Amino acid sequence: MSATYKAIQVTKPGEFATVMKPLVDPGPGQVRIRVEACGVCHSDSGTVDGLFPIDWPRVPGHEAVGRIDALGSGVQGWTVGQRVGVGFLGGSCGYCEFCRNGDLVNCKNQEYSGIHHDGGYAEVMIAKASGLVSIPDDLSSADAAPLLCAGLTTFNALRNAPAKAGDLVAVLGIGGLGHLAVQYARHMGFEVVAIARGSKTAELAKKLGAHHYIDSAATDPAAALQALGGAKVILITASGGKTVAATFKGLRPGGVSIDVGVGPEPIEVTSPDLIFGERKVAGSLTGNPATGDATLRFSALTGVSAMIETVPLEEAAAAYAKMMAGKARFRMVLVTKNGNGQPK
Ligand SMILES: [Zn+2]
Ligand SMILES: [Zn+2]
Repeated sequence: MSATYKAIQVTKPGEFATVMKPLVDPGPGQVRIRVEACGVCHSDSGTVDGLFPIDWPRVPGHEAVGRIDALGSGVQGWTVGQRVGVGFLGGSCGYCEFCRNGDLVNCKNQEYSGIHHDGGYAEVMIAKASGLVSIPDDLSSADAAPLLCAGLTTFNALRNAPAKAGDLVAVLGIGGLGHLAVQYARHMGFEVVAIARGSKTAELAKKLGAHHYIDSAATDPAAALQALGGAKVILITASGGKTVAATFKGLRPGGVSIDVGVGPEPIEVTSPDLIFGERKVAGSLTGNPATGDATLRFSALTGVSAMIETVPLEEAAAAYAKMMAGKARFRMVLVTKNGNGQPK
């Protein structure tokens, strides 16, 4: 086994470099993974553009799939050779107030993959065992990768939403997250509305499982939702506070607008719109590892999959640039020489 491995690291904001790094042993509670595939996510800009305080250089990537090749001390429940995934949340501590209360997502000592420690734009990564997700045999590593962040984020938000089968659920934005959210919503038994700008997305939205399509450039999306009876849930996958505000009145009484699209804009909602109808605005942050397992299993069972474009790890910078330019349809996935990207 080679004593070094290839990694794509960011040396300072906006600057990628391909480097060989020395192979290190996993520490206590950690595993070492031979990465086969890693998705390129918009949140990688947290690293690449230095939106978080970063200890440079840093390897981005939080949609990594690979096989465990070494276990650190004290790791239980995982085996060498097992295929696993690492998402945005790098693993809970197990001892903080939130962990002890069962809220692993909001663990106070949670590190973010590719931000606080090196991520999956590499042939090898070290990960905390408490953050691992298991990968079903019938999903390829490349197909599984985007489900670890884009998939988990939308699946978790919809699964924990107050909607029941048959309720009207809207997905705003048909991009990397939204194209998965529409599929999940359909398979969860909701009446699904897709909302995007322009008429071009209508056909794709229907193909993904949407029962209705609203072109928000041509019609008032809130009025269009009310014409359908009002949404119990609107899942906001596009970034921008304005999109939340523009659809908020489309909620039926008791409905909730759940934001998973990160953006700097404030969300402007009037108090009467909140109070009369008792509507809510909420945020949702990916999900815990067990929900990660469920996301992958549910995806394999129902055939939900991300539309992906795979590129070799070495082309990470170009893949990142394409994603940031909004030209990815819909998820870029880096693949390494470790895997052929096929199911086991
Ligand atoms: Zn992500
Ligand atoms: Zn904790």
